[in-house]
Amino acid sequence: MKTSTTPVDIQKAATSKIENTDFNNLAFGQVFTDHMMICDYKDGAWQTPKIQPYGPLEMDPSARVFHYGQAVFEGMKAFKDEEDRIWLFRPEDNFERINKSSERLAIPAFPKEFFFAGLEELLKLEKDWIKKGFGNSLYIRPFVIATEAGVSAAPAKEYKFMIICSPAQAYYSGEVRVKFSEEYSRAADGGVGFAKAAGNYAAQFYPTNLAKDEGFQQIIWTDANTHEYLEEAGTMNIFFRVGDKLITAPTSDRILDGVTRKSIIALAKEFNIDLEVRRVSVKEIVEAAKSGDLKEIFGSGTATVINPIVGFGHAGKKYDLPKLEDSYAGFFKDKLTKIQYNQAADKFNWRYQV
Ligand code: PMP
Repeated sequence: MKTSTTPVDIQKAATSKIENTDFNNLAFGQVFTDHMMICDYKDGAWQTPKIQPYGPLEMDPSARVFHYGQAVFEGMKAFKDEEDRIWLFRPEDNFERINKSSERLAIPAFPKEFFFAGLEELLKLEKDWIKKGFGNSLYIRPFVIATEAGVSAAPAKEYKFMIICSPAQAYYSGEVRVKFSEEYSRAADGGVGFAKAAGNYAAQFYPTNLAKDEGFQQIIWTDANTHEYLEEAGTMNIFFRVGDKLITAPTSDRILDGVTRKSIIALAKEFNIDLEVRRVSVKEIVEAAKSGDLKEIFGSGTATVINPIVGFGHAGKKYDLPKLEDSYAGFFKDKLTKIQYNQAADKFNWRYQV
C-alpha cells in the first residue's frame, strides 16, 4: 500500500475510451488505457513523474533508441479481487529487474519511490479497466528508452521511463509446439540474455518465423556454444516433468530470472514436489520422450502464467506429449492464480495491495 510521498503531476484525460472497449474480446496488448506514466531523465536526474493522457510521443528521429536499441522493459499484472481491491504480484521483483536490465544497457537506475508512486497513482486512475474474475487482469508495461538526439554510438544522457497499461483476458495461445533450437541462439555468455532488453526480442522474430514455417509456435533456446542444453523460450522460462520430477534450468547471464519461475520453485518446495534446478540436456529430454517418461513441458511467464506445451521438435523429428488429468501445469496455475486474485493465503507475502 502506498507509503510514498513522491509527488506525481497528474493530468487527467478529458474522455475515457472504456465505454468503447469490448472486454470480452481483447487481443493481448492491443488496447491501452486512458493514461500513461512518463518520467524524463535529464541533467543527470530523473524529473518529477507525470501521468498524462495516453497518446503518441514526439521524439527526434536521431534519438538513440532508434539507432542503438538502448531500451529495456518489464511486464507485470494487476488483479482485482471480489471486494474490488487491486493487487500486484511481486512488483518489487519487476522493479529490481528493470534496473538490472538498465544497468546492463548503461541506462541510469530508476528510483524506487518514483516507480511505486507513479504506478499506484496510475492504477488508481485506471481501476475500472481492471475487471474481476479469474483470467482478467491489467497487463502493465514499464519501459525505458534513450531519447537523446544524436547518432554517436554512446549511451544517451536523456531517457524516458514510462508505464502503459493494457486490459487482458486469460491468455490462450492455442496449442503450443516448440522447436528445440539447433542453429540460432538467443543469448550468449557475457551477453544480455538475463536482461529484458528490447533487442533480445527483435532477434528472436526471424528464427521463430522459420520455426513457424515448420509448424512450431515457439522456440526453446539452447545454449549458444553447443546447443545441447535447453534454456528458455522467447518470453517464458521452461519446466520439464520427467516421471514425477520437475526440472528447470538455472538462471544465468543468458536466462531471464522470471518471477513466475521462482514462484513455481517456491510452491514446489512448499508442496513437496521433487524439483531440480540444473542444466537440462536435449539428449535426456529426447530420450525421456522416446521412453514415455517425459510427462510434461510447460512455460511460465507473467502474460500466460503457465503455458502447457503439447509437443516438440528436434533434429527433424516431432514428439507429442501425453494429455494428463493431473498435470503439474494445472496444479501450479491454480495455486498461483488463487494467490494473485486474493483467493488463497499468501504465505510468501507476494501480494501487494494498491
Ligand atoms: N523469459 C523471458 C525471455 C521473458 O521475456 C519472460 C517474460 N518476462 C520470462 C522468461 C518470464 O518472466 P516472468 O515470469 O517474470 O514474466
